[in-house]
Amino acid sequence: MMKLYANVTQFLNKKMQADKFQYKIIIYTATLVHVLLILIFAALRVVPLAIFNIGSVITYLHCINIIKYGYKKELIRTFYITYLEIIIHSFVATIFVGWRFGFPQYTIGLIPFGYYMCVTLLSDKKKYYIPTILGFIAFFSFVSCRMISLFAGSIYQLDVSPAIELAIYIFNSVCNFGFLFLVTLVFIMEMQAFTNQLRTQNVALDNMASIDPLTGLFNRRSMQDCFDQALKQERAFCLVMCDIDNFKKVNDTYGHDFGDVVLKEIAQIIRQQVNESGHVCRWGGEEILILSNEKLEQTCQIAENIRSNVETHLFSCRGTSIHCSLTLGVAVHHHGNTVEDTITHADKRLYYGKQNGKNRVISPFDAA
Ligand code: GH3
Ligand code: MG
Ligand code: MG
Repeated sequence: MMKLYANVTQFLNKKMQADKFQYKIIIYTATLVHVLLILIFAALRVVPLAIFNIGSVITYLHCINIIKYGYKKELIRTFYITYLEIIIHSFVATIFVGWRFGFPQYTIGLIPFGYYMCVTLLSDKKKYYIPTILGFIAFFSFVSCRMISLFAGSIYQLDVSPAIELAIYIFNSVCNFGFLFLVTLVFIMEMQAFTNQLRTQNVALDNMASIDPLTGLFNRRSMQDCFDQALKQERAFCLVMCDIDNFKKVNDTYGHDFGDVVLKEIAQIIRQQVNESGHVCRWGGEEILILSNEKLEQTCQIAENIRSNVETHLFSCRGTSIHCSLTLGVAVHHHGNTVEDTITHADKRLYYGKQNGKNRVISPFDAA
């Protein structure tokens, strides 16, 4: 759980760095556009707009400085400044030189930008209503620009050739479309990164919910899925119930930590022997249940291999080494029976093994 929390925190930190980086790209692009606009307005001799754009460049450079050392709050503040600057600039430029140069286009590009930034930076409720309000402001600015230029005309009556008018219009279109492409692309890439992160976290959570942390074996809940799958296929399978012999004594004599080492290593031995031929789960305490997809003879052989491997294995912890043993009860599941019945059969054979010397495999071949 701690690891998952650390992963999420690390991801959010990385994400904030990525947000800053993406937002910086957007601001640098906007600064460049305003530098070009200074040149355009200077060439057209519209001095107030050239000065306005110098102000915009200074504002953007200030924004870059704010977010360099700031965090979320600063990013939000600079976002509002950028958004309002673009609306005001579109509005003022249209009032001064008219509709025909295409300055109001920028207000349309603001809509996805607003939603993208707010979804990334704001809290649950705010991330929807703030960009909607901002979007309406952009819309009213766009419409009022059109109405003012239609009914009142513009402050400057620029006498430029149609080619220059078209060139400025295309310049504004390229900037606006470029901005839309950039914001959409960044948004899609972030969604993709988020989806991938969620997938990885889901796998981690799924593992946490289905794996026993001490032994690395399936837990009882996930074994139920294995049973369901085997029952669906309507084929015979075998169950083997394993129980460590005299495990209480191991705990009492060498300590619980040593007991854990024994349990872990026995789980490892069983997993190695069962391999791809079945599923292994920690049924409870120090009982391990095997679902074997092999026929009875092969399953008995696997059980015997497990028993002998455990018997010969030396369990070591903090300089002490001991031998342990395992008793196993084998049962065949026949189509039509319940899994609980088969587990009871395996359990009975395990009990028989415990009563008759332990360190044994008891199968249907034995008279138990
Ligand atoms: P038997 O040979 O009849 O099986 O005797 P036993 O001493 O092994 O008895 P039993 O199977 O009832 O032992 C269960 C013991 O397993 C009791 C409990 O302390 C121990 N145990 C259960 N889970 C764990 C665990 O996760 N770690 C450790 N160290 N011990 C555990
Ligand atoms: Mg037991
Ligand atoms: Mg035991």
